[in-house]
Parts: sequence; C-alpha cells; structure tokens
Amino acid sequence: MNDPGETPKLDRPLVLATRNRGKISEFKELFSGSGVEIRSLDDFGPLPPVVEDGKTFEDNAVKKARFTARVLGLPALADDSGLTVKALEGKPGVLSARYAREGATDRENNIRLLDRMKGVEERGAAFICILAIAVPRGPALVYEGICEGVISKAPAGNQGFGYDPLFYYPPLKKTFAQISPAQKNRVSHRGKAMAELRADLDKVCIWLRQRLSEEPL
Ligand code: IMP
Repeated sequence: MNDPGETPKLDRPLVLATRNRGKISEFKELFSGSGVEIRSLDDFGPLPPVVEDGKTFEDNAVKKARFTARVLGLPALADDSGLTVKALEGKPGVLSARYAREGATDRENNIRLLDRMKGVEERGAAFICILAIAVPRGPALVYEGICEGVISKAPAGNQGFGYDPLFYYPPLKKTFAQISPAQKNRVSHRGKAMAELRADLDKVCIWLRQRLSEEPL
C-alpha cells in the first residue's frame, strides 16, 4: 500500500508470475511499503502455461517474466530455483522439481539424489535462485542468490520442502529442514536474491518507469 499522498513509484502494478501462495506472500512482503502495487497471476484469468525448457535458471526465470509481461501488458517478476550438486556436474539443476520423473514428489526426488550420491565422497552442493523482472518489450533485470552446503547421507528434519532434508548447511550445523522458515530466509538462496533486489528497489523502480515510458500502455 502506498502512504496517503505519496506518489506511486509505478503507474502500473507489477505482476508476480506465480500462483504459489508461499512465494506470493514472500514477494508481497518484499515490496511492502515500496509504493509498488503487486498483483499475482491469481488476479487474472487463466493463462497458457510457460514451458520451463531453459538450460539455466536464468533462462527459465527470464522466460516466465517476459511471457507474463507480454501476455498481460504489465511489468512482471518471476523466479526460478533449484539444487546443483558438484559431483553430479550441476544436476539436478533446472530439473530439480522433476529429477526422479515428471510430476515427482519431493520424497522421490530425495531418494533419487541419495541413490546417485551413494559412495560419493565429494558432497558439495548449492541452491541457486534467480529473480527476473521484465517489461512487455526489451531487456530483463536479473538478481541471483546462492547458498552453499553439503548433501547429507540421510534425510533429517521435517520443515521446509524439496531437498531441504538433505541439504546440510555447515554454518548452522543443521539441514534446511531442521531450521525455522525465518532462519532459512536469512541465509537461503531465495532470501539472498530477495535481499539484493530489496536493496536495489529504488533503482529497479526507476528502471521500470523508464522502460515503461518508452512503451505504449
Ligand atoms: P521452483 O523454483 O519453485 O520451480 O523450484 C524448483 C525445485 O527446486 C523445487 O521443486 C525443489 O525441488 C527445488 N528447490 C528450490 N528451492 C528450494 C529450497 O529452498 N529448498 C529445497 N528445495 C528447493
């Protein structure tokens, strides 16, 4: 919400290119008090799904942000994230959500990862998150957050989602599934990418205003 009497930083809403409730509330929190009106895909009718066929997280995040911006004629923010494991040459990477199979559960993906890591000594890994902001035409802005850790030999903890039970974070001597959401946000890939974007928010708004003023409504 803008303060009464404050000039909005953007004359159009920014659309979050997601229907994931958790992400929507995290992004709304990020932009609270910024003077930017936030909408999500749920505020619009059905849209065709975006095929996430990029080779990198950046490809996918930019593709989702661009597609949403073009279809709705509004600036859009999208994210893409996943796990990269050194010994597996970066896998599961962009396939993180469907490592075991298309439509896999988190449990199936974790079992597959443990299986691939059986007997492997080098267990270094990193979660990566890319945030992309796009306007209907032209270039996109990209922010990246990385969190390094180790793939444990057995799952531990029951918080979080995805690979959290297997992602051991040495500074806290716990897996991501053993820490609270607030603790995770302070150190996670997503938390870091969001912090970078938040620190740059005024500049991002100026960039968006400039880009949008060059485009017809
Ligand atoms: P997406 O960015 O929501 O598409 O996430 C892709 C996949 O990466 C998820 O389904 C998870 O398997 C994995 N992933 C991304 N972020 C996290 C995290 O914070 N913890 C655990 N797994 C994650």
